[in-house]
Amino acid sequence: MREILHVQGGQCGNQIGAKFWEVICDEHGVDSTGRFNGALSDLQLERINVYYNEASGGRYVPRAVLMDLEPGTMDSIRSGPYGQIFRPDNFVFGQSGAGNNWAKGHYTEGAELIDTVLDVVRKEAENCDCLQGFQVCHSLGGGTGSGMGTLLISKMREEYPDRMMLTFSVFPSPKVSDTVVEPYNATLSVHQLVENADECMVLDNEALYDICFRTLKLSTPSFGDLNHLISATMSGVTCCLRFPGQLNSDLRKLAVNLIPFPRLHFFMVGFSPLTSRGSQQYISLTVPELTQQMWDAKNMMCAADPRHGRYLTASAMFRGKMSTKEVDEQMINVQNKNSSYFVEWIPNNVKSSVCDIPPTGLKMASTFIGNSTSIQEMFRRVSEQFTAMFRRKAFLHWYTGEGMDEMEFTEAESNMNDLVSEYQQYQDATVEEDEEGEYEEGVEDNYEG
Ligand code: GDP
Repeated sequence: MREILHVQGGQCGNQIGAKFWEVICDEHGVDSTGRFNGALSDLQLERINVYYNEASGGRYVPRAVLMDLEPGTMDSIRSGPYGQIFRPDNFVFGQSGAGNNWAKGHYTEGAELIDTVLDVVRKEAENCDCLQGFQVCHSLGGGTGSGMGTLLISKMREEYPDRMMLTFSVFPSPKVSDTVVEPYNATLSVHQLVENADECMVLDNEALYDICFRTLKLSTPSFGDLNHLISATMSGVTCCLRFPGQLNSDLRKLAVNLIPFPRLHFFMVGFSPLTSRGSQQYISLTVPELTQQMWDAKNMMCAADPRHGRYLTASAMFRGKMSTKEVDEQMINVQNKNSSYFVEWIPNNVKSSVCDIPPTGLKMASTFIGNSTSIQEMFRRVSEQFTAMFRRKAFLHWYTGEGMDEMEFTEAESNMNDLVSEYQQYQDATVEEDEEGEYEEGVEDNYEG
């Protein structure tokens, strides 16, 4: 068995993590006490050990570690609907808070608590038959999930260098939050994620807000509404890891298919059909409709338009009872009609698969994971917000006061700008241009000679 160890940190990380477990418990037929009551299909238990430990008495316990620098969010998880399912020893929390300060999470308050978290992580890892890797849920805009989350990622990477590191990272947007320093926290985090994470599923609050407002017609979306979209997406992304199947059946295979260059591991994810929390209407789409929506910019959980860039790679997971042949035809159709949006120098760069088990409440659904060069639009947005403040060194004393050096800000800024340039470089690269380039070099050589 290839186990995954889940870690959630900070307010956002804990809230989306808790929702993730509610959704997948439901899909696997595990009730809030950890007992199996599913009879839907044998497939529910076939790979249950990827995410759950089996405790005495046949109870399933999430292989999850919960951390925070203040007790509030974890208290509400503990008293929430699935609060009793987690292993009590796996709640690790402090009292100080991180005050939306990345430096507190990464260097001071978080650094004090990190060894306690690592002890719990180690204990879980030792219980595994053959750990495939970690998944971390966090936001990048605050202090704990962001600063302490990336500290934990770097510590885990140091201790388990050959295990995969997947993150579900929530990017900040002024539409949803009113803390001005979020671009600082996010940029410092991206700097870490570029180096220490293998694959990052980008969940951009800006896009989530727009989906709620424009598509789902919610006039004042709450975090609960945003998190409903996130948990549906997380369930879709992990579906191929949790149920039997061929495509992307473990974290490494997923990475191999999607990452042509190691730094470019930030994915746009999409979901269809989009539903709002508590909506009773039973949405039923055909395979062509699912396919069309899944590729639609409006369904992407990242505020970037794929038509402004090109796909290096992409994967699609369809769920429910449907014809594999029809799925393949529809996917080929999209690629043929939009061939200029796929780099031609990676042939067959779109993969698709079908999982029999649909998400709860839907007959069919699909999840999209794309490595699109257009994601640079989101990084540019954060970078502009960062630079506007950093130019004047605004709010910097909160960070230097925790012992941080200005240099780290400069490095983080240029690392993210480099990332943007790398996306642009591969967006512009074509087979013809390469050939031309060689030709021009030749001319120059001759001229100089
Ligand atoms: P931390 O507890 O210090 O890690 O701080 P937070 O997780 O509260 O980080 C603040 C950032 O996360 C801001 O960008 C918020 O908009 C975002 N955020 C906080 N809670 C949630 C949530 O439940 N869902 C979503 N989508 N974003 C959240």
